[in-house]
This record gives sequence, structure tokens and C-alpha cells, in this order.
Amino acid sequence: MRFHVMTLFPDMIANGLGTSITGRAIENHIFDLNIVNIRDYSKDKHKHVDDYPYGGGAGMVMQPGPVYDCYQDLIKDMKHKPRVIYMTPQGKVFSQAIAEELSKEEELVFLCGHYEGIDERVLEEIVTDELSIGDYVLTGGELPAMVMIDSISRLIPGVLNNDDSAEYESFQDGLLEYPQYTRPVTFLDKKVPDVLLSGHHGNIAKWRREQSLKRTLLRRPELLEAAQLSKEDKKTLEKLKKNIDL
Ligand code: SAM
Repeated sequence: MRFHVMTLFPDMIANGLGTSITGRAIENHIFDLNIVNIRDYSKDKHKHVDDYPYGGGAGMVMQPGPVYDCYQDLIKDMKHKPRVIYMTPQGKVFSQAIAEELSKEEELVFLCGHYEGIDERVLEEIVTDELSIGDYVLTGGELPAMVMIDSISRLIPGVLNNDDSAEYESFQDGLLEYPQYTRPVTFLDKKVPDVLLSGHHGNIAKWRREQSLKRTLLRRPELLEAAQLSKEDKKTLEKLKKNIDL
């Protein structure tokens, strides 16, 4: 898989994703990260890429020309037009389901805005998807692009050390994950639940499922509507609802 990022701040992306798990995966060529600087496509002698908004108002707007030329250069050797995702607080909110869908693409282009955003005409021309990371406004699209690439890339086989570990995470089956414990057995007088020390895989799986249902019920009950629930899960939830003061 190949991620392309169109940005005015390439170092931010290179430093952010070049570290830890994603950094190791890039080094091992498990996925590619191609960062392109939109400013390189400015025809202005001072390399300006922004200008005042028509109609007045605060801030500056990224001009369409450099973004368009950068995009044309990026896709010139590609066989198919890739999905181009514009980072914007006005887009659909990114989720695990969207990460899974995007992880099936071979190439993805992330377009990062800055200042007041990007001239609408070039967005209409090149963007296929508009995504947000939540209902708040950031200074630029670089952090959202990093959030999305991190989340999509960890679904690519080989990015995580243990391929299984992406399977039982929160949201994977529509539920929040069960609580996790590691050594020592006792910490601040609190003992790890006995069942986890029992070595009985069946009981451990049952306990984890119950915890997962309980957490989701308490913290994000709206997720239960779309979650994949077995008959057993539904029974457990009924019991939990009776015992928990919601
Ligand atoms: N004027 C724009 C508006 O009201 O929709 C906001 C521009 S914002 C200050 C600058 C850039 O940051 C945007 O073009 C976008 O790329 C990025 N950005 C800000 N908040 C974001 C969010 N929640 N999700 C994704 N991208 C965001």
C-alpha cells in the first residue's frame, strides 16, 4: 500500500509517521509513504501558496494552482486515479469502519489544508472524499492525515508485530475492548482478576466478552445498536442491565 500526503509541512508528517510502529513498517517497506510539498509547485518567486479570500474576511486561503499542479505531478505515472481525501472539519467523521474500507486501497492521497482552507474549485476537481477527525477545528490537516494513516496502516498485515493484535481491538466488532492487565499480579493492593490467572481459555474468553459488553453498555451504549451480538451476548446484556444502575 502507498500513502501520498500533499502538505505545506512535510517535516511534520515525516517526523510523526517516521517514529515507532509506523516508522518501522516504512523502513521494512511494509507500506510506502510519499510526502509531497505543495509549496514546490508555487510559481510565485517568493513561493507563496496563499492569498486573501475573495469577498473579504479573516485569514488566508490556499490557492488552487499549486495544489492542482502538485496533484497532476503526483498521479502522472499512476494507472488508475486514486482516492483523494481532503482533511476538513466539514467532512464525514473518520471511524474504524472507514479505516477498514480504506485499508483495501492500493494508493491513497491525503490532502492537507492550512490557514482558512483551500480554494473550492480545486477541491471540486480532484477530491473524492472529505473526512474529519472530529467536531473541532485544527490549524492544519497534517495531524488528521497522520491519525488516519496510523489507523489504516495498522490494519495492513505485517505492520503490527503480532498480526492477531488488531483483531480484538475496540470497535473491531462494534464493541469496546475489555480491560487489560499485565504484571505484577498485585498493584496498589489491587489484584488481577482471578479468571485471567486460571489458564482456562474458555472462561477467559467468556469473561472478556462480558467485560466488553459491560463497558460498551456503560460508556457507549449507542454502539450496541449496530454491534454484532449473539444470543448469548443479548442474554448477558439483559442481566447486566438489571444489575447496573444506568
Ligand atoms: N475554515 C475552515 C472551516 O471552517 O471549515 C477550517 C480551516 S482549518 C483552520 C485549516 C485546515 O485544517 C483545514 O483546511 C483542514 O485541512 C484542517 N482541519 C482542521 N480541523 C480539522 C478536522 N477536525 N478534521 C480534519 N481536518 C481538519
